[in-house]
Amino acid sequence: MDKTAAGRLLASLRPVSQRVCPVCGKTFEGVGRRRYCSRSCKLHAQYKRRSPEATRRGPQRKAASEGQAEPTGEEVSAERAG
Ligand SMILES: [Zn+2]
Repeated sequence: MDKTAAGRLLASLRPVSQRVCPVCGKTFEGVGRRRYCSRSCKLHAQYKRRSPEATRRGPQRKAASEGQAEPTGEEVSAERAG
């Protein structure tokens, strides 16, 4: 088995799917649990979530810090739509 075949096999084992970046709306190949097309978009989403304006806008987020260790990302897309 050469390097290329091994790489292809590894890639095929990973769950890859077409996704739309919730920050910039770009379509990209999401590998595993990747949610954003790039690192800058990920940082952008994190920054947005932390900014006081974003917290003021979401009164429905109260006990989110408890129990749920992972954000679903739904709130980001909902914010875009609204
Ligand atoms: Zn993006």
